[in-house]
Amino acid sequence: MEEVEFLVVGAGPAGSTAAREAASAGIETLVLEKDRVVGAKRVCAAGLRPGFCETFDLPRDVVHCDTPRLALFDAQGREHEVLFGPGHTSTREELDGTMARLAQAAGAEIRTQSLLKHFHRERDRVVVEYADITNGTRRTVRARSVFVATGATARFDRLSEERAFDDPRWDAGLMTTLQYRVYLDRPAAAIAYQTLELHYYVSRGARQIVAWMFPKRDHLAIGLGLLGKLPGAELRKELDAFTERVGRRLYPAAAVTHVKEEGHLLFGGWPRAEVAESGVMVGGTAAGLVDATNGEGIFEAAMSGRFAAHAILEHRDSPQASGNRYRERLNARFRRRLEHRVRLMRFLEERPKRYALLFEELASSTRFSNALYREDRERTPFDRLVLYAHALRFGLRASFV
Ligand SMILES: Cc1cc2nc3c(=O)[nH]c(=O)nc-3n(C[C@H](O)[C@H](O)[C@H](O)COP(=O)(O)OP(=O)(O)OC[C@H]3O[C@@H](n4cnc5c(N)ncnc54)[C@H](O)[C@@H]3O)c2cc1C
Repeated sequence: MEEVEFLVVGAGPAGSTAAREAASAGIETLVLEKDRVVGAKRVCAAGLRPGFCETFDLPRDVVHCDTPRLALFDAQGREHEVLFGPGHTSTREELDGTMARLAQAAGAEIRTQSLLKHFHRERDRVVVEYADITNGTRRTVRARSVFVATGATARFDRLSEERAFDDPRWDAGLMTTLQYRVYLDRPAAAIAYQTLELHYYVSRGARQIVAWMFPKRDHLAIGLGLLGKLPGAELRKELDAFTERVGRRLYPAAAVTHVKEEGHLLFGGWPRAEVAESGVMVGGTAAGLVDATNGEGIFEAAMSGRFAAHAILEHRDSPQASGNRYRERLNARFRRRLEHRVRLMRFLEERPKRYALLFEELASSTRFSNALYREDRERTPFDRLVLYAHALRFGLRASFV
C-alpha cells in the first residue's frame, strides 16, 4: 500500500495552501483532487479581501479588478456605500490553478481525477480509499495525517464510520446558488469595475435572497443564493429578474453577447462543531468556515490550510497533538466571529427592514465598517469602543422595527 506523510483531499484554496506550506517545509505531501483541471468547475463570485495576495504570497496577476467600494443594497433596494481595502476580484480557475501550481512547485504531488471514497483509522495511520477516475480503479493510501478540504459537499456520514465530524446543523446551513457570467459587447459603467455589490431582499416567494454583482476583466459575475432548495426554473426566474435590474443600472446601452450559467452549493451556517480527530483535520468550507453574512470563505479556507500545515510541522511525531493544535488555532481565529455572523444574519432575516439600519450604520462610519471586518485579535481598544457603540445603536433601533 502507498504511504505518505501528509495527505490532502481537495485542491481548493484550503487544500492547496496546506499542500504548498507543508511541502515547502519538507513534508512529503500528496493531494487528491476529483476534477481533471483544478478550479475549472468552481462556481464562485471570487471576491478577495484586501491584502489576500500578499498574505498568501500569490502573484498580483490573479487579480482582475481592485474594488475599493462595497455597495450594500437593503431590502428596499436602496444603496449604501462602504469604502474599504481595496478588495479584489479573480476567477477560481485562475486563483485555484495558481495556488495548485505553487503547491506543486513547492514539491507537493497533485493527483487529479482522484475522488475520495472512504477513510478509517488503522493503528497510528489513516487509511484513505479513493477512486482513480481515469481508469475506474480503487486505490488506497496510508497517511500519518490527513487534511480534508472538499468544500460544501463534504458528507462525513458517507466517508467514514467514525462519527466525530457529524454535525446535526450542517444541512440547515446549505444554500442553493445560481450565477451568470455576463459578457458584454462594450464595458459596463466605470463604477461597476470598482465595486462589489451585495443585495439582500425578499423574493416573490417570500424567501430571503442574497445576490451579488462582482466585476471581472471580461465579464460581470451576477448571482444569487438562498438557504435550502428552490426548483431550478424558479431560481433562474429570480436571477433573470435580478440581472435585468443590474443591467438597467450598469450597462443600459450594452448588448449581452454571451451568458454562462453555473450553480453550486454555498455554505452559510454554523462552523462544524469538531474539526480534528485521530489524525484527520477538516478545513475550509468543509469545516463551515464561511461568513454567513456575505459568503466570504476563500480567506478562511486558505488560512485553515496554513494552520494545518503549521500544526503538522509543530508536532510531526504526533498527529493527535497536531490535530489539537490545529483545532485550537482555528477556533481562536475564526469560531467567535463566524458564529456571531450566523446570529447576525438570522437576526436581520427575521425583519428585513433591519438590513437598512445596519447598512446606514456601516456607511456612516468607516471606522465602524473597518472594525467590523477586522478579526477580533486585530482590533484595538478604540476599535472595540467604536464597534460596541455602533452595535448598541443598531441593536436598539433594530429592536423596534
Ligand atoms: C456562488 C458562490 C459564490 C462565492 N463567492 C465567494 C466570494 O466572492 N468570496 C469568497 O471568499 N468566497 C466565496 N464563496 C465561498 C468560497 O467558494 C469557499 O469558501 C471556498 O471555495 C472554500 O475553499 P475550500 O478549499 O474549502 O473548498 P473548495 O474551493 O470548494 O474546494 C474543494 C475542492 O475539493 C474537491 N473535492 C470535492 N469533493 C472531493 C472528493 N470527494 N475527492 C477529491 N476531491 C474533492 C473539489 O473538486 C474542489 O477542488 C462563494 C461560494 C459560492 C458557491
